[in-house]
Amino acid sequence: MLYKRSSALFAQAEIVIPGGVNSPVRAFKAVGGTPIFAKSAKGAYVFDEDGNRYIDYINSWGPMVLGHAYPPVVEAVIEKAKLGTSFGMPTEMETQIAALAIKMVPGIDKIRFVNSGTEACMSAIRLARGFTKKDKIIKFAGCYHGHSDSFLIQAGSGAVTFGSPNSPGVTQGTAKDTLLAKYNNIESVNALVNANLGEIAAIIIEPVAGNMGCIPPKEGFLEALRQLCNQNNILLIFDEVMTGFRLARGGAQELLKVNADIVTFGKVIGGGLPVGAFAARAEIMNYLAPLGPVYQAGTLSGNPLAMAAGLAMLNALEQDNTVFDRLAEKTLYLEKGIQKVLSENGIPFTVNRLGSMISVHFDSNPVVDFQTASKGDNEIFKKFFHGLLAEGIYIAPSAYESWFISDALSYEDLDYTINAIDKVARTL
Ligand SMILES: *Cc1c(COP(=O)(O)O)cnc(C)c1O
Repeated sequence: MLYKRSSALFAQAEIVIPGGVNSPVRAFKAVGGTPIFAKSAKGAYVFDEDGNRYIDYINSWGPMVLGHAYPPVVEAVIEKAKLGTSFGMPTEMETQIAALAIKMVPGIDKIRFVNSGTEACMSAIRLARGFTKKDKIIKFAGCYHGHSDSFLIQAGSGAVTFGSPNSPGVTQGTAKDTLLAKYNNIESVNALVNANLGEIAAIIIEPVAGNMGCIPPKEGFLEALRQLCNQNNILLIFDEVMTGFRLARGGAQELLKVNADIVTFGKVIGGGLPVGAFAARAEIMNYLAPLGPVYQAGTLSGNPLAMAAGLAMLNALEQDNTVFDRLAEKTLYLEKGIQKVLSENGIPFTVNRLGSMISVHFDSNPVVDFQTASKGDNEIFKKFFHGLLAEGIYIAPSAYESWFISDALSYEDLDYTINAIDKVARTL
């Protein structure tokens, strides 16, 4: 494949944009090479500026669960744009999408829309702190909740210590209120709760982790968290920015039958436009301004184009009785294919999957938390990534990312992918 135009565009971008990108992982730092510049996308495919076509396993990092340029979403956005692109006044559509989301997701009475997953998680912990009148939160090493200060805490192995910031610019003052636990390890959470009795406002978790590859929760882990929260007057926050409207209509809560107190959304809920949201039962949501004392706002929140895209997306998912089964079946088919060809080629690997989230780790040990995810062989991953790219397959340029399966993928696309993985595996 030729990447001439992408390379030239990247060189120009680097002059005026830090690192040439507006979100770091796009820069290919973890895999080397220059990023591919997208020109258009349709269904399962994305086309770059050099005219290359790729089967897309990133799907804009999750939102395009029904494939790119999904016609009902595109049409809704075009129609709404003709009526004005932002008013800063309430619109009927905001109530429609809110009501639909509440119908689809278990345990929520009210929802507020924001512009990104970051904003949703940032607002959710402020709300939890305001509601419980406590300051500290517990997060899990390797879980990502956007780039607000409280979440950028070292994913180190010392789980039972105060967090230290892992980005300059995050103050120690902020970091000390974020405690770090180990994913899938309830003892690490118990220890933090016991050492900080009466001080913890919330525990925030990706109910299925997707930002250290895909790591499903162990049997009983989320239930134990739920119980611990109930016993200690702690709010449980499920960050469903990745899993929401992807694993089931009602997200991970529905699939895994554990309910959180606050749920955050992003990605799919905006149908590819910038949307995030957070939701809870009325008692908690009524703490938000203008009803309650916890402030939260946004000039473009509930933007009509974003709401039109999100509403069209949620409607499509709500009305399709088999879409989540189809997604899981396609992903299972891919999982089996990958298992087969990587085993045949004698590559040490682990494939993790739940529903339509899947990831390949180049290490043969079970991958259950950040520490085990870090053991993957990044040199093999780099070759794997570039090998697949050359075959016209676009996976995330980092070994710590889940693949995002879309319903636009056909079984021919999946077979092509499995064959390509076989071919690439021979070179690893
Ligand atoms: C993507 C993601 C976020 C951040 O969402 P942005 O829209 O990128 O700000 C937060 N939490 C999880 C679990 C995510 O996957």
